[in-house]
Amino acid sequence: MYCPQCNSSHPVGDYPEGCPKCARAGSPACVVPQYRSIPNWREVLPSQGLTQYIHRLPFTVIPSIGEGNTPQWRLPALADNFGLAGLSVKNEGDNPTGSHKDRMSPLVIAAAIRANATAVAVASSGNAGVSLSAAARHSKMDCVIVADNDMAPEWRDAIKHEGGQLVFTQDRWKQLKELREEGLYPATNYLTPPVGSNCFGVEGYKTIAYEIVDSTEAIVPDWIVVPCSRGDLLWGTWLGFEELFRYGAIDVTPRMVAVEPFPRLARVLRGESYVSFFSGSTRLRSIGGNSVTFQLKKAVEDSDGTVSVVSDRKAIEWQRRLKSWCITAESSSASVFAAIEALCTDGTFGKQDSVMAILTSSGRYEQVWEHL
Ligand SMILES: [Zn+2]
Repeated sequence: MYCPQCNSSHPVGDYPEGCPKCARAGSPACVVPQYRSIPNWREVLPSQGLTQYIHRLPFTVIPSIGEGNTPQWRLPALADNFGLAGLSVKNEGDNPTGSHKDRMSPLVIAAAIRANATAVAVASSGNAGVSLSAAARHSKMDCVIVADNDMAPEWRDAIKHEGGQLVFTQDRWKQLKELREEGLYPATNYLTPPVGSNCFGVEGYKTIAYEIVDSTEAIVPDWIVVPCSRGDLLWGTWLGFEELFRYGAIDVTPRMVAVEPFPRLARVLRGESYVSFFSGSTRLRSIGGNSVTFQLKKAVEDSDGTVSVVSDRKAIEWQRRLKSWCITAESSSASVFAAIEALCTDGTFGKQDSVMAILTSSGRYEQVWEHL
């Protein structure tokens, strides 16, 4: 395992609080599994979803719930409207429980089994809770979901349906830390300032990069636009592209764009410390929160990417527009189109650029906002 901030190496193990050295220095950072070698790296195994790439992941056996192989399609008319060379979508909402979290959950459960844990716990606004409950049930493991007191009934029902046990609180991370001290295996961050989710789980997001490259014959979009909170998804996807580049499967890596509902990373990229409190609020709960992680900052900087701040109103307008085209997306997911529109308008994206939007969640359990 290595720390992408201080470059120190650590024995293989669980690091829910990230790199011990960086934690002591007051600048928390995640750790990343490092592979000595990956025999037959180029091989894509004859199976489905994550298990096609199991030889590039931390565990040889995972409780797959049918995740991955999500649809990708082009939007040529919208690309013309925006003045782009190409625009495409990867729809993570098509995963079994409706979000990209399904790529993380089987790996978290495999890591919990390795750690001899009998129960897992996750702090969630919805998507991660439903997903981890489904993967835990597959392995007959108990799963506790720490949720805000005002979680919508649709999400509560979905989590209960998958067998998750709900705990309500006003401080999700504090509650998750207490559950960890009781012996539950944590899937997500519980620290302030945060380090991000379970590093084995985040490895699952590398498969998004693998699928994009395998489906485009190694033609990589110039930009990949990702809704972000702590940036697990953007970071994991970036790790996948870095790996593909290192192994010679692609000649160039994409530039990663983080989409956020109020300035957090935007302030960090202008010089503020990522270890800060960023005031602001949003109705886009899946990308809410008042913090930035080292992993998010690093992925955007290393990829020569950027950040786009979108309003709730714009995201919800795009959600409605997508719905009229029969594309169902959570409001947080639809924020990517508001970002692409803004980045075309301000000239960040140009007529030579190809752009891919990651739709993170179908929003099948989200309440519909009738009034903005
Ligand atoms: Zn470190």
